[in-house]
Amino acid sequence: MSFKVFTLSQELNKALEKNSYISPTPIQEKVIPLVKKGVDVLAQAQTGSGKTASFVIPVLELLKDEITSKKSKIKVLVLTPTRELTLQVAQTFSTMSSFFKHTPLIVPVIGGEKIGEQLLKIQKGCDIVVATSGRLIDIIDKKQIDLSQIEYFILDEADKMLDFGFAEELDVILSVIAKQRQNLMFSATYSPKVLDIASKITTKATNVKI
Ligand code: AMP
Repeated sequence: MSFKVFTLSQELNKALEKNSYISPTPIQEKVIPLVKKGVDVLAQAQTGSGKTASFVIPVLELLKDEITSKKSKIKVLVLTPTRELTLQVAQTFSTMSSFFKHTPLIVPVIGGEKIGEQLLKIQKGCDIVVATSGRLIDIIDKKQIDLSQIEYFILDEADKMLDFGFAEELDVILSVIAKQRQNLMFSATYSPKVLDIASKITTKATNVKI
């Protein structure tokens, strides 16, 4: 199978080619068309399965024409359990959008680094925020971020987030993000706690297993 079946824009096809993405992985085969269609997805996927690109590619495809040179509102919020994964996801967004006419502004929001610089980037306007929940909550508490217009809410490695008391933080985050949005959630395992979180986020997700 080739990425051609997804009828992606030229900009994305060029990025795929440049990064030697020839054929989609099984999770990408299933998730990319669902995201493009606009449905919520709950996917069981392990690290190394290509899950990052399975949401980055279709979200960028849907967003492409909304990225302009004007000051941006935040359109995408991705939550991850670690700073490493946050940086990796931000990098994949950057790599896959490298041929866009206007480069999306992507801000990683992570603990262990000065908050000031992150706040400045958010205030200047950005398109995509990739965050660990603790630092994001700090910024929400300071009332320094407007997430009321996000279109895509993505949870990556949801099962790993539970280790850090994420369930409580999620309630705060859900109270400030747009109600109308597309939800995508990835988890290596489906424990009752993970399913509980999923049900708070969406009740209409399509389940994907590979
Ligand atoms: P992930 O599971 O998202 O952490 O991805 C694992 C690795 O596979 C990353 O280094 C990706 O760049 C790479 N990768 C993901 N999908 C593909 C693909 N379809 N073709 C080639 N490499 C890929």
